[in-house]
Amino acid sequence: MRKHAFSPFGVILWLLLIASTVIVVILLPRTLDSYGQLQTEQNATPTPTANVESMLLITADPNHIPTPTPLILRTGSQGEEVKRLQQRLLELGFYTGLVDGQFGQGTAEAVKLFQAQHGLTADGLAGNDTRSLLFGDSVSTYIPTPVPSPTPSSLAMGDKNSAVKALQQRLKDLGFYTSSVDGDYGAGTQEAVRLFQSQHGLAADGQAGPETLAAVFSQNAKKVVATPTPDPALLPLLINADHPVADGYRPSNLVNLRKTLPASLVYVKGSEIEGDKAAAAALQTMFEAARADGVTGFQISAGYRSVGYQQKLFDEKVAEYLKDGRTRESAISATKLTVAVPGASEHHSGLAFDITVQGTIFKGTPQQIWLHKHCWDYGFIIRYQADKEKITGILAEDWHIRYVGVQHSIIMRDQNLCLEEYLERLTQ
Ligand SMILES: [Zn+2]
Repeated sequence: MRKHAFSPFGVILWLLLIASTVIVVILLPRTLDSYGQLQTEQNATPTPTANVESMLLITADPNHIPTPTPLILRTGSQGEEVKRLQQRLLELGFYTGLVDGQFGQGTAEAVKLFQAQHGLTADGLAGNDTRSLLFGDSVSTYIPTPVPSPTPSSLAMGDKNSAVKALQQRLKDLGFYTSSVDGDYGAGTQEAVRLFQSQHGLAADGQAGPETLAAVFSQNAKKVVATPTPDPALLPLLINADHPVADGYRPSNLVNLRKTLPASLVYVKGSEIEGDKAAAAALQTMFEAARADGVTGFQISAGYRSVGYQQKLFDEKVAEYLKDGRTRESAISATKLTVAVPGASEHHSGLAFDITVQGTIFKGTPQQIWLHKHCWDYGFIIRYQADKEKITGILAEDWHIRYVGVQHSIIMRDQNLCLEEYLERLTQ
């Protein structure tokens, strides 16, 4: 092969070499420079930039495929890249406009939303950072900021929203509601609404219809009446050793519990067990609430008892003690601690119930814990508590609940009053 030939082929090679050197020395630094400008610009106010795209068109190697262009898409940009951007923002829920390749105000707003949600500066400029996140794996879809919905015209059990929350807060401020303001219209809220209605001359159905809502949020809404007018007819019935019922006493509104309460909800131990109609309805609401909380398996083992039946229970207990060798006097006083004297049992009212769990001691069961915490919200009280034994004269009974109505039970719970104390306070 000859070494010094000026062949046309050699000349072309030399020219090509010179040309590429010129490109590398002169054009590349300019390109890098403008690239640098671009990078700094991503966090800055847009300024006119060199036309990178046209510069990059002057590539040394026409076969070289350029890496993705580091361009910023912004208001006024147009073309396929904008289209791709819009399409992606649309898929993710940030953009709701047309995928037309025109970067307008809508696209800018969508970019801002996307940036804000992804911890980027929300400047509406789709630069490298924004776009690599947008097309990357760690991208998240649009999470709408909660907007308070306009107050519905009516709310009821089961509703869960901010309007319920507002209702609960208002009822709490007025003293009708004592539980947590959680936006969940449960049994407690229903009882608070019912109590509010009953004290405002509205039909006490526990549902917050338009009329009730208007009354609740009215300037004229009254605070809860913490001490109801001591009208003897409206006060809870007191039955104890000092206040026995007459021999033939029988409440007027008794219903058969097994026939009244769904067997799937609660087991009624005896087929003949009766209870007051309103109290039975409250039992149903209460056990439904317990079930909603995942607590089931309650049993009703006692309800209404006639004076005659109580006499039988009393005599049986006395007989047991007599067998133990006690004197009659001692046997009777021992019996009185656990079995009410005939006529003095709360069970004569049809408003008292013994709640148990089959096959186990009630104390400490989830059912007992739930009952003691929540029965008050449904108008029941734990009638015989340990710290009130001296007043009631009855040893604590975890299983015995008494219906007094929610207007009384809530106050008795909040002020830790047993029935004797509560009535004494009201009638003083
Ligand atoms: Zn009882």
